[in-house]
Amino acid sequence: MADCLFCAIAAGEIPAALVAESAQCIAFRDINPQAPTHVLVVPRQHYADAAALTAGDPALAADWLAEVSRVAAELGLADAGYRIVINTGDDGGQTVRHVHAHVLGGRAMGWPPG
Ligand code: 5GP
Ligand code: ZN
Repeated sequence: MADCLFCAIAAGEIPAALVAESAQCIAFRDINPQAPTHVLVVPRQHYADAAALTAGDPALAADWLAEVSRVAAELGLADAGYRIVINTGDDGGQTVRHVHAHVLGGRAMGWPPG
């Protein structure tokens, strides 16, 4: 999709600190980390948000969630735990309208979020 930051990163047109790649997804470090480990896991195919992805390609949605778990384990977060965040829409704080999961770890997370 034109003018989409994460499509451009997935295509290699904009550099990012990649931590994992699969046929369907990429994972790279967030440029403004909110935890000692903060990685974004992104389907290569453009969908605006999780609702569009699950409606449009449920198999890809499942692959994406599995990739989140794989990446968290590869980053050494599985034992201590981590948080998966999927911001959706304006009130959800979604600033990039290409579906992505934040994987946050390396410190204890409070609840509820601020
Ligand atoms: P959202 O607010 O849409 O849930 O998350 C978008 C995330 O993308 C933010 O955490 C922001 O720091 C990150 N981000 C924005 N621009 C870039 C970029 O150019 N490179 C990387 N690696 N992350 C970015
Ligand atoms: Zn996109």
